[in-house]
Amino acid sequence: MTMRKPLVAANWKMNGNAALAQDMLQTLAGHALPELDVLICPPATLLQPLAHSAHCLLGAQNLSQFSDGAYTGELSAALLSEAGVRYVLVGHSERRTLFGESDAVVLAKMEQAIAHGLIPVFCLGENLQQRQQEKTSEVLAKQLAAVYASHPEFIGKSVVAYEPVWAIGTGEAASPEQAQQAHAFIRQQLANYDAEAADSVRILYGGSVKAANAEELFRQADIDGGLVGGASLNADEFLKICQSAK
Ligand code: PGA
Repeated sequence: MTMRKPLVAANWKMNGNAALAQDMLQTLAGHALPELDVLICPPATLLQPLAHSAHCLLGAQNLSQFSDGAYTGELSAALLSEAGVRYVLVGHSERRTLFGESDAVVLAKMEQAIAHGLIPVFCLGENLQQRQQEKTSEVLAKQLAAVYASHPEFIGKSVVAYEPVWAIGTGEAASPEQAQQAHAFIRQQLANYDAEAADSVRILYGGSVKAANAEELFRQADIDGGLVGGASLNADEFLKICQSAK
């Protein structure tokens, strides 16, 4: 089995401010974390103060599905890349449900990101109803297929984040067993497209990760780190979560 370097990512969503960016930089600078990659995805207006830090990687929360042109308010992969961004979240459930992003839009964004050298963090997950109806595997397989069936070469260029919608922002994380089961399923599905890439792709867990549950989640065989929302808005808590990565 390939050794996968853990990745712990902060998704600030539409939260945070310049003071948090400073606090995060100072906190991370004070603690060497050579065993893992730390990624911060702040709102776009805070990309600049976090760019070019030696202590974290920089990610955007969104990008345009178009490459350039008359798209008022949009940010292209090329603009993000020029601003120092290396990673970008794609297909987050809030984008899918609140902003109507279809599988086709998600695929277009994956293509834009990869064409411009950004590493997409491809997010997927089932909602509560789908879990209760025991449709989790079916939903995950469909979301994966929408991107990777036509582009198996994207697996080695992505990070994947399993985020059960019912666990996002609810304080109720998936149990380590539930998460591991979904992660193993995702890796297995990806192996149908490219076995080697599926073995080395990092699959993050997201949904109410906090300092108190991170270690147990990150200990699971197919969990390679986390995508952290609410708990990443406190630098000390986020540092503790990073320190829990195996
Ligand atoms: P949460 O959000 O940690 O606040 O549940 C995770 C996410 O949406 O990425």
